[in-house]
This record gives sequence, C-alpha cells and structure tokens, in this order.
Amino acid sequence: SSCFSIQKVREDFPILAEKIHEKPLIYLDSASSAQKPQSVINSELTFYSKKYAAVHRGVHTLSAQATQDMEQVRVKVADFIQAQSPKEIVFVKGTTEAINLVANSYGRHFFHPGENIILTEMEHHANIVPWQMLARERGLNIKVWKLTHEGELDIDQLSELIDNKTRLLAITQVSNVLGTVNPIKKIVARAKESGLLVLVDGAQAVMHQSVNVQDLDCDFYAFSGHKLYGPSGIGILYAKKALLDVMPPWEGGGSMIEKVSLTEDTTFTKAPWRFEAGSPNTAGIVGLGAAIEYVTHLGLTDIAKYEKSLMKYSLAALSTCKTVKLYGSQKTRTGVIAFNLGKHHAYDVGCFLDQYGIAIRTGHHCAMPLMSFYQVPSMCRISLAMYNTLEEIDFFIEKLQHIENILSS
Ligand code: PMP
Repeated sequence: SSCFSIQKVREDFPILAEKIHEKPLIYLDSASSAQKPQSVINSELTFYSKKYAAVHRGVHTLSAQATQDMEQVRVKVADFIQAQSPKEIVFVKGTTEAINLVANSYGRHFFHPGENIILTEMEHHANIVPWQMLARERGLNIKVWKLTHEGELDIDQLSELIDNKTRLLAITQVSNVLGTVNPIKKIVARAKESGLLVLVDGAQAVMHQSVNVQDLDCDFYAFSGHKLYGPSGIGILYAKKALLDVMPPWEGGGSMIEKVSLTEDTTFTKAPWRFEAGSPNTAGIVGLGAAIEYVTHLGLTDIAKYEKSLMKYSLAALSTCKTVKLYGSQKTRTGVIAFNLGKHHAYDVGCFLDQYGIAIRTGHHCAMPLMSFYQVPSMCRISLAMYNTLEEIDFFIEKLQHIENILSS
C-alpha cells in the first residue's frame, strides 16, 4: 500500500509552515533547489551533535564510525541508482563538479585533438561549459544536437551528427527548463552503436522517477543532493567501474594517495577514493543518505503518480490564462513548466508573485542557448515537487491572472 499522503509529506518539511510577506509560502522553485524534510535536517544535527569526527584518518571510535557511516551512504547511493557496485560512486559537490571531473580526468587524458563531443541544445550550462573548456585546451570540436521546431530532440539527427571522430555524447535526462524527459535508454543504445561514451546529467531526473544506470547503460551519470531534498554541497558521479579504474585523478591531496614521496612518483589509491582528495563533506553525505531514505520510503512510483496529477492540473490551468505562452512539448514532461506572460519581463512577474508568498524562478535558467532557440531573454518557471498541492496551483493561477489584468490595463 502507498505511504504517500500529501498532508503527511507537507508536515515533514518545516519550511512549508513559514510565511513570506505575511502569506503562507508557496514554494514553486524546487528545481532550483528543493526544501528539506525534518529527517534530513535531523541527520545532520545528530551527526554534528553526537557522531562528528574526521573520516579516513583515525583509529579512534568516532572516526572509524564516521568513516563507516560515509561508506554506507555510498552503498545506499549505488542501490538508489542501481549501480553494480559502490565502487562506481564518487562523492562530489554536485552535478557541476561531477561533469567537470569527467571532462578533466577522462576527457583530458583520453580525448585527442580533432576529435569531437556532441551536446544538445537543451543542456544546462553545467553540461556545456566544462566541455567547451576541455575542447579549447585539447583541440576538440563541439557538435550540437539541435532541437526540432517543436523543441524536441529527434534521434535520427543524432546519427547524422556522429562521425568516426566522435567520442562522447553529453545529454540531460530531464530538461531543467522544458521538463522534457529524454528517452535516454534509446539514445544510449543509438550512441553505443557508434562506440560513443554517454554522460547523462540526472540533476532534474532522480527526484521524479527511479533510475537504473545499468538498464540505461550510460557510462557516466551525475546528480546533486540539494535537488533531491538533500543537503547542498554534495552530489554524485556514477561511472562504470572499468572507466573509473583507468581514469587518472583530477584533484590531488590527502586521502587519494597510496604513497607520497618528494623525490619519487607519488602513487594513487584505488577508485572511487582516488577522486576524493581532501576532507569530504561528511555531514552532507550523511544528509544525502537520509534524503535517499526519505524518497525511497515514500516510493518514487507514488511520488511520480502524484506529481503527474499536479502537472496535468497545472498545464490545464495555465492554458486558461489569456496571455501565457508555454514552452516545450506537452508530451513527456516532468518537474517544471516554463512560460512567459505576454511581453512582460519574467522578473516583473516573479516580483509580483513574491508579494503573495509565491516563489518561482525567473531568468535564463543557466540555459542561454535554449533562450536563444526561443528568442527570449528570460522565462518564468514553476517547479512541481512532491509537497506542492492543487490549492497552491489555484492560488498561483489566481494571482497570475490578477497580474495579467494589472499589466494589461
Ligand atoms: N544540470 C541541470 C539540468 C540542472 O538543472 C542543474 C541545476 N540547476 C545543474 C546541472 C547543476 O547542478 P548543481 O548546481 O547542483 O551543480
């Protein structure tokens, strides 16, 4: 039976009881960063109040226990995305650092001048800029998998882009602007026919559906804790073990070495620890473990079912607003709805809504190429998370219509 009850879920998130400008907070910005359930907050509180010590370093009880707790989260993460082994899980700061790690380790070492990388037109800057920096340094070319007129990716166009110098496809599973759910399994299969590596940006995917990296057969998968109701400053890079084992370290320092000498070559420890130089974000790791437990307990199937009803309701309600223009295809969408209100700047709309306690995201959404595609400088975006309600959507639509009337008079 389902554990999912919207009242219960809302009670789990203390911030949802806060008021903004004396109005109840309506948080429609979870795709930027999600709020945290009490269990995540408590896990960090307990860690710092009762269990804190440096990891990997000491024989003393607290240090050994903290190290064990951290390694247990690695196992939990591996189970969560159905990796073959916890040794395929690297703790990083977030999606951004995960992608930079792959570019700077695998890319810098194994890609050669004249080779190319394919990116899509709907990528977040985090999945564009690291590749551009690598391309400049290594003399690589970037090819762009463009969107169709409908704002979708046509898989046949991917095949046309691939040539015998193509090494990697970097693609988001879910667009942070359009909410498009890309058919990653099919796309990976097509890319593999030509021997490409595939990196999947899962930042907007892991909180809306269960992910099985073995089934997707992607080589790299990146996501952030803070969008999964976990702490900020912690994220995950998954990489197939055979790849991680041959990748050189990117950052050097403590915890990633076997033997250091000032006169001979330093040797490095095994993956994944080779990629975790320095003292890790242990409280963040513990909090991420609690976040995974939280969503797993509720069940991603039930979460997705609830969010789907919210999405359907919101799309229908938004389309009753006279001057609203929605972006993206209606077919496969999760998590977000981007729109503009007539010719009004998104910032104005966002500021108006804030007066009523409604938090939305406005701007270019770190996806400037996508703004160019739609020829707009900015968009408004609402996020639909598991703790949002139909009543919140009603209130948001009422205020949006109010703004429509004020701005058009
Ligand atoms: N990719 C996508 C699709 C995102 O939505 C985001 C966050 N907005 C990122 C990457 C970057 O994530 P982070 O800032 O947590 O590293």
